[in-house]
Amino acid sequence: MQQYDLVIIGGGPIGIACGLEAKKSGLNYVILEKGPIVNSLFNYPVNMQFFSSSEKLEIDNIPFISKEAKPKRDEALEYYRRIVTNNELNIKLFEKVESVIKKEELFTVTSTKDSYTSSQVIVATGFYDIPNTIGVTGEELPKVAHYYNDPHFYASQKLAVIGASNSAIDAALECYRKGAEVTLIIRGPEVGQRVKYWVRPDIINRIEEGSIKAYFNSEVTEIRPKELEVQTPEGKITLANDFVLALTGYKPNFEFLLQMGVTLSNDEKRLPHYNPETMETNVNGLFLAGVICGGMETHKWFIENSRVHAKMIMDTITKQ
Ligand SMILES: Cc1cc2nc3c(=O)[nH]c(=O)nc-3n(C[C@H](O)[C@H](O)[C@H](O)COP(=O)(O)OP(=O)(O)OC[C@H]3O[C@@H](n4cnc5c(N)ncnc54)[C@H](O)[C@@H]3O)c2cc1C
Repeated sequence: MQQYDLVIIGGGPIGIACGLEAKKSGLNYVILEKGPIVNSLFNYPVNMQFFSSSEKLEIDNIPFISKEAKPKRDEALEYYRRIVTNNELNIKLFEKVESVIKKEELFTVTSTKDSYTSSQVIVATGFYDIPNTIGVTGEELPKVAHYYNDPHFYASQKLAVIGASNSAIDAALECYRKGAEVTLIIRGPEVGQRVKYWVRPDIINRIEEGSIKAYFNSEVTEIRPKELEVQTPEGKITLANDFVLALTGYKPNFEFLLQMGVTLSNDEKRLPHYNPETMETNVNGLFLAGVICGGMETHKWFIENSRVHAKMIMDTITKQ
């Protein structure tokens, strides 16, 4: 059993920010990450460009230099990776935390590889691991994906993209431009209002000119190997289809939070309970950092506005 002052669960941008702060505060800490460094970013689409400009993604005021104002995924991987290696952060990779149990004043953190004790724990596990499924027959077929990676894969194929937010719209536009025959299926009456302001006109124009077919107020009701069934305002239609990208968002691992004793709001937002000044949850010594704080409201927190959590938590821990 390895002993630490602080265990940080999750090696995303905010977990890394917490590690930097812990190191500066002289704490004996470890970051446990279930995948590679910044696993979520690693799994973003290959050509993804952040909506934030690079200085807003900086942690600990370490300069983030990018070619364009808004960095690309590979530049962000480079940035956060260099922070980890240059600062020799104590991070253990490919080690998933399976349970956190508090007994008296000590937490026991058990991962797939080891066990640790610590007096404080930070949970910075984000929301990118669990997709919101659409719950229809055929969703389990191999042609259906909840993560989009590379447009080349869909060239010359009939691709249905389900969703109306940034991920869905980016994927639809990119795949259309690499030669896919794209159909968008959107539950509401329009392209999401939160779609990046410089992308929204592009998709609206592509729909209006007919380059991308869109069904509004519509829902996929069944996915079959070669076709899709869609409920539209005009009735049920069948579309020929090769691949489906169901990009309907992601959610935090609520079971993990509940298992640690963190309580959640009773409404559909499922907001975890924490003190917004200290980031400490209803479990003493257990803190939340990063986008996990938003519950189902995954658009509320991002790197830009949650990077401050690291300093807030460390100020609280070091004052105790
Ligand atoms: C496509 C996309 C574009 C975005 N663009 C922007 C942007 O431009 N600007 C911005 O500010 N934000 C942006 N965001 C939001 C933000 O980048 C991410 O949500 C960001 O990764 C949040 O950082 P985090 O450290 O809180 O969580 P994450 O980066 O998700 O990190 C959580 C980490 O915890 C690990 N983990 C989970 N469970 C366990 C476990 N049990 N044990 C060990 N490790 C675990 C995961 O592998 C992951 O590496 C974007 C998000 C998406 C999806």
